[in-house]
Amino acid sequence: MAHRQRVKAGEARSSGQGGPGDEKTCAVCGRRMEWRAKWAVNWSEVRYCSDACRKHGIGDVDRQLEATILELLAARAATSTICPSDAARAVGEEDTWRDLMEPARQAARRLVAAGEVEITQGGSVVDPSTAKGPIRIRRRRGSDPGLDRS
Ligand SMILES: [Zn+2]
Repeated sequence: MAHRQRVKAGEARSSGQGGPGDEKTCAVCGRRMEWRAKWAVNWSEVRYCSDACRKHGIGDVDRQLEATILELLAARAATSTICPSDAARAVGEEDTWRDLMEPARQAARRLVAAGEVEITQGGSVVDPSTAKGPIRIRRRRGSDPGLDRS
C-alpha cells in the first residue's frame, strides 16, 4: 500500500509543495481547498479552487460587498448579525441585487478566512465551506476592541 515514504508535513510545507491535510481558502469563493496531489507542483501558488473561480476573479463589486458587510456590521451592536442580502441590497440596484446574493455569500466567506467575521446558522457558528441554506454574518467574537488599529 504505502510503498512511498511519507514526507514529513514540515518538510513538505517548507518546500511550498504542501501535503495531505494542508488546506487553504479559495481567493474567490472563500471555500476551503484541501490539498490534492495535482497541486503538489505549485501548492504555494494555488489560489483558486476551480476554473470557474479563476475566471471569475475578484472585481470591484466583490470588494464593495466585502466593505459593505464590514460597514453594516460596524454600524450595529457587536453581537448583531446581518444577512448577505443586506449587503447585496446596499451594493446592488432595485432589480439587480438578487444577482449579488451569491457574490455576497462569497464575500462573507472571504471575510471569515480573513478573520473578520463569523458565519452563523441558528445562532451557532458554522463552517462556511459546507453551510447550506440561509446564513447570518456577525463580527468575529473574541477580538479585543481595544486593539482596533483604525
Ligand atoms: Zn473557489
